[in-house]
Order: sequence, then structure tokens, then C-alpha cells
Amino acid sequence: MATPALRHLALGSAAVVAVVGVGLAVAGPLTPSDPGTPRAGASTSPSSAVTPTPSESPSAAPSPAGPVDVPTARPPKGRLDGDDLYETSVAASRAAFPGRADAPVVYLVSGDSWSKGYAAVPAAAVLGGPVLLTRPDGIPRVTAAELERLDPERIVLVGGSKVLGSGVARKAADLAPAVERVDGAGAAGASLALSRSAFPAATAAWVVSADHPEHAVVAATAAATTRTPLLVVDGDATRLPAAHADLLRDLGVTAVTVVGPASAVSRGVARDLEDVVGEGRVVRASGEDRYAVAARVNALAQPSPAEGVAYLTSGHATGTAFAAASLAGLSKRPLYYALPYCVPASARPALVRKAVERVVLVGGEGTVRRLAGRLEPCRSITDMDSDWVLVNRRNPLSPMKFAPSDLMVPPMSDAAGQQLRADAAKALGRMASAVAADAGRIGIDTAYRSYATQDALYDKWLARRGRTWTDTWYARPGFSEHQTGLTVDLLPVGESNCSINDCIDETPQGVWLARNAWRYGYILRYENGYRSTVGLGFEPWHFRYVGTELAKAYHDGGWHTYEAFLGQPGAPSY
Ligand SMILES: [Zn+2]
Repeated sequence: MATPALRHLALGSAAVVAVVGVGLAVAGPLTPSDPGTPRAGASTSPSSAVTPTPSESPSAAPSPAGPVDVPTARPPKGRLDGDDLYETSVAASRAAFPGRADAPVVYLVSGDSWSKGYAAVPAAAVLGGPVLLTRPDGIPRVTAAELERLDPERIVLVGGSKVLGSGVARKAADLAPAVERVDGAGAAGASLALSRSAFPAATAAWVVSADHPEHAVVAATAAATTRTPLLVVDGDATRLPAAHADLLRDLGVTAVTVVGPASAVSRGVARDLEDVVGEGRVVRASGEDRYAVAARVNALAQPSPAEGVAYLTSGHATGTAFAAASLAGLSKRPLYYALPYCVPASARPALVRKAVERVVLVGGEGTVRRLAGRLEPCRSITDMDSDWVLVNRRNPLSPMKFAPSDLMVPPMSDAAGQQLRADAAKALGRMASAVAADAGRIGIDTAYRSYATQDALYDKWLARRGRTWTDTWYARPGFSEHQTGLTVDLLPVGESNCSINDCIDETPQGVWLARNAWRYGYILRYENGYRSTVGLGFEPWHFRYVGTELAKAYHDGGWHTYEAFLGQPGAPSY
């Protein structure tokens, strides 16, 4: 059976540009006598179920209909994840519609170009259905299986045949009695068509730029959460397009939230929105960065949310975020952004609130680390005083002649007068005791090296061995981790077959360090086989202090380079 809103969509909307498969013409008139029983959780007002559709004219006013109830979501215990975007999207759908619950409608959006589908997230939510991502040329098996499980009355293909091809349309026709396309010009046009076809009326709406997918995904989630439409404007729009204004007036919108700073949605657009809502209100959800914008959007969507989960993913993984947006929106839970390895100060206060029972990470460890899930506060990776600082061939010290202020000789017997920053030195002292008890003594070959020391060292080897060899084994001055005071080259002490750092990996001490250094906040910085990322050859003696939280996350996540862990590009050359 179809809800009134569905019949409206089938018959009353000019936004539906094409019908594929079994005709929609039968869906409307036949609905009142449809013998099917109401779906659990669906809107089942008896009076509306037998009220004929007001008109079959495309210009007819939509029949008023409230949002459709959806089942209670069952968010995953740990992560919401899959091998690809399609699987992640299916995992989200399964969480939104757990058990045998089925959905009245499913929106299919291309996993290659989901920008047309931002407005599908609230459109699907108000009609009680999920958004699923699909390949543009065919429906993936896992997606088809989910569609079978959901058994929708209707599948909406978002975009024209260039966005979702005939292979998708054909398969969709096998999976639902009615299939239709909703499209418009670009992300902006599609948002109008999607909103018009799903919302008979709305008092509030969200407006976002097509050029900022990171804003658009959280705006889509917020719009779905509040069961209100999302309108996308072109990134270079200086005025609100007339079609947008018309739609807002037709729907009766009196409150608009503009998402992003004026550099994303212009002041001109905001002013025109003010004219459209008249006595109503236009507010801007902005912030210093995407993390802050997301937090602000969530706060405006739900000023005092009920207790439940919060979804968290990388602010640079908008496809992954999009795959979860429908679930978050349907179940009225917020979607926040973090860095891959920590939560920025702009997002953290909202996530540590009592209303957040637990955080569900969206995407794999490669997208967002467990450390972010534990709400580790971000520390700088560019500030020389931060123990997370990244120094490599793309990231020299800044200033180049930086020198740490808290150097000390580590409390251990074989320190050889070498110095490290205080936290790194104390941790090394503890590590030296532990390795001595388990595997044998270690000593320091070199630790902190000043710019001048590195300069002399590099020049010495350059004269002896030439540029290629020297660049393989020595960082140029200003590019050495040793200059941070957080790095130490270790050597075994008392081993008959090895007394220099080169062979430390063949000693019990070296083996112990490779396995256990993380427990003391150190990582083996230059592993075997990662020169194309880190820029240097295998150095089993070179350990970098990053603090115990980060080192544990690095170890637990099975990471091999600090660059990849931080989500930063490799630095093979200067
Ligand atoms: Zn070193």
C-alpha cells in the first residue's frame, strides 16, 4: 500500500521526470482499494488511506501529510562500516530498518556522484525510507539484497540516465512495483525536484552550497532529522535562484538555516532568503572549520537531543559520511566530523555531553581511528612543541632552527649524555628499565640533534658518500625528527655480536623494542619497505616519541607509517 504522500508523489508532482518499469499511473487510483495491510510503523491514518488523491494535475497542490514513522534504529555496537561505500550504505540501512521491518520507499543515489542526492536524505526520511548508494551502471549485489529485504513499494532513482544508467533502472524494476526518476539540473536542480516531490509543506528548510560536500552531508542529516527539506545552491550563486524562492514560498517555509560561512553560501543568497521568509527567520550555521560547522548544524537541528548514539567520521570522508546520513537522519541522531585520529576542540564539547551515550564510528580504521572514537582531543601536528608534530621531507621544522626548551638526559645508565624533551626522556628511562629486565640493556646512540649538528652531519656524509646515499640515510638540516627532541637512535649494550644500531633488529633488545616500544609512547618510525612514504630507509634503531595514547592507537591499528596514520601524504622527496 501507499501512503498519501506517496500518492502525491506519484501523481501530483512535476518533479518526477520519468517513470520506469510498472507504471505509476496505477499506483494512485488503485491505492484505496489495495488489499495490502498497513506496514508496521507506517503512517496509517484511516481517513487519509481512503481519501482519493486531490487531483492528477501536475500543478495540483500537494496533499498535506506528516512525516512517516520509522522503526527504532539499532546502531552497530562498534563501527558502521563496509568494504566499500555500497556496503557501508547497506549497513546503515540495516541499522535504520532492523529485523524484518520494511520501507515504503527507497532512494537510490550514485556512489560515484552523490551530490545530486543530498536532498534525497531528508526526502527519504519524511517518507519513511532510506537512501542507498548504488553503482551508476548497475545495482551491487549487496544493495539488491537489501532492497529485497526492505521490499519497498517504490524505488526513486536520483538523477538522470547519465547518473544512474538503464542497468540500475532495469534491476530496480525487478525489485519494486514502481520505479521513478527524480532529477534536475545539477545538485541545485536535483534538490528542488527532490524536495518538491517529497514535501507537501514545510515550515523550515536548510540551504547549503553545492561546492561544500562536507557541509552538505551534515545539512542533509540535519534536514532529515528535522524532517524538513534541503535546498542546494550553486557555489557561485550571489542571489537566491527564483525557483528556490518559489519552492520555499509554495511550501510555506518561514525558518531557514543557511549552512556554512558567507564564503560558501553568499550574503546575497542569505538576504534573498530573508525576503522570502518575510517575518520568518534566517540563521546561519557557521564556524571556523568543517568540524565547527557540523557541530553548529547539529546544535541547531536538535538543541536538546534525547540520549542516544552520535555518529562520527572523518571530515574529509564525505562519501562515507553520506552513506551514514540517512541512518542518522531517520533515527534523529547527530553526525559529527573529526580528524582521522582525534576530535578537534570545536566538535568535542558536543560529543562528551551526557546525551551522547556512545560514539559510533562511520568507516573503517583507515577512515577514522579508534582513538577518535575515544574522543582523544586533537594536538597539533605542525606546532614544534607538540609531541604529535610531523616532521618529514614535506614538513620541515618551523622555524628551521627550532630548538626545544625542555631537553634533559634520560634517566638511564647508557644515555651517553644525549638529550630528549622531558616527557620523551622520562618515557625512555622507563622503557630502558623494561627492556633491560626482559631482553638486555640498551643505550643511546644519538637523540636530540640541533640544526647545526644535523647540518654538519649531513655535509660530512655528503662529502664522503654523495647525495643519493646521504639522502637515503640522513635528513637534511631542518628536516630531521632528531631536531624535535622527540627522537632517539638506540643501540644494544653488551651483545657480543652487535654493538651498533645497524644490527639492533637482530638482537633480543631490537626485537623487544619493535614489539613493545608503543607501550612507552614510542613508534618505530622508519619500517622496512616504506621509504616511498617516509623518505628514509629501514632504520630499526630510530624511535619516535608520540605519547602513549597515539602510540597505542598506532600499534592497535596496525599502522606502518606516521604519515598514513595522520592521513597525511607521503614525503618521499624534498
Ligand atoms: Zn635516527
